[in-house]
Amino acid sequence: MPVPLAPYPTPPAPYTPPANGGTQQSQLVCCGCRNLLLYPVGATSVCCAVCNAVTAVPPPGTEMAQLVCGACHTLLMYIRGATSVQCSCCHIVNLALEANQVAHVNCGNCRMLLMYQYGARSVKCAVCNFVTSVGASASTVDQKFSA
Ligand SMILES: [Zn+2]
Ligand SMILES: [Zn+2]
Ligand SMILES: [Zn+2]
Repeated sequence: MPVPLAPYPTPPAPYTPPANGGTQQSQLVCCGCRNLLLYPVGATSVCCAVCNAVTAVPPPGTEMAQLVCGACHTLLMYIRGATSVQCSCCHIVNLALEANQVAHVNCGNCRMLLMYQYGARSVKCAVCNFVTSVGASASTVDQKFSA
């Protein structure tokens, strides 16, 4: 007696994720519930799956940075280069300086101009390896020189 042939199951095509440069994901914080949302780069707005609020995506090329609110510890996003970010939760204004700015100091040994991340305590000179403390204020240095 003929055996009915079961339909041959077609194996699912292996999913090959797009190579680097394909669909890139970016992040933003929902304007409604403050959840972190992922969206494909190029989208102009993101609808939150949690609260359905539509959050506008900053124009492409806008570099976003993140910081954590010093008062309520909410993750805040802001446009890189901004100097202050107001928390949408507690309305505290957080200074964004430390996150993205670079300061300069002269090497205490060879006077080479060094760059360092704002907020760093010391900078090691790439030329002479002297460690220059940047925690001290300029006035302290002046006192040392005038004494
Ligand atoms: Zn939301
Ligand atoms: Zn806050
Ligand atoms: Zn030096």
